[in-house]
Amino acid sequence: MTAVVELESVARTYDVDPPVHALRGVDLAVAPGERLAVLGRSGSGKSTLLNVVGLLDRPTAGTYRLEGRDVSRVGERDRDALRADAIGFVFQESHVLGHRTVAQNVWLALMAAGVPRTDRVWKVPDMIGRVGLAHRADALGRLLSGGEKQRLAVARAVVTTPRLLLADEPTGNLDADNARGVLDLFDEQAGRGVAVLVITHDERTAAWADRTVRLEDGRIVPEVPAGPARPAAGTSGATAAGTTAPGPMPARPAP
Ligand code: ADP
Ligand code: MG
Repeated sequence: MTAVVELESVARTYDVDPPVHALRGVDLAVAPGERLAVLGRSGSGKSTLLNVVGLLDRPTAGTYRLEGRDVSRVGERDRDALRADAIGFVFQESHVLGHRTVAQNVWLALMAAGVPRTDRVWKVPDMIGRVGLAHRADALGRLLSGGEKQRLAVARAVVTTPRLLLADEPTGNLDADNARGVLDLFDEQAGRGVAVLVITHDERTAAWADRTVRLEDGRIVPEVPAGPARPAAGTSGATAAGTTAPGPMPARPAP
């Protein structure tokens, strides 16, 4: 099975004085339907990694294959097209348009992706219903609660049916119930085969993932599972694919 994301010796050096080596030889693969959490301190390279994987930035060395295609060196226009086709983004500061209604927010995401009007007409209410915002369809984005906003952000990200979902601290500002709601929506996507990569500081989100890796100073280090219930990461911890020892797999609801 082709990995959705495959990074091989990826480096990203910012050309400042002195140069900043934000990513150093990162090997990482994310499979279809896999839920990967990336942990790491501030400044460890998480946002840089997300930007590279999201085709918002390019590696300065190494190879990035997206769905098997080498995208490390493709030009801006092709990257824009690939991103629109394959990738959905959810950020902590959810890019919800405050002066637009919930329905308009989803409508505009579909328009930006070039989805024809005849499809937008049914996809908007369908998507809004799936994230539990049907009763808020005509509410302005800025009037939503934090949890509602984040569900709308997920709706905007997934309504275009991406194969890769990238999230930067998607549960950072949410209470437990709302965080659970967002993770449930991610589960639904993973159940459809979408690869979900989440950057997080949040223990709950790390525990939710199928696999966790940690960035330290631009390098992937094996994440040693904590607690007596989980096996210690042995010598098989770090592999060429940057994986960690497999922890217990949380049950995933059937798609
Ligand atoms: P994180 O998201 O984990 O906090 P970042 O990927 O934002 O880490 O940053 C990694 C390192 O790269 C940090 O030392 C940061 O200061 C540096 N950095 C990030 N963006 C730039 C940039 N545009 N120019 C120069 N240095 C940068
Ligand atoms: Mg960051």
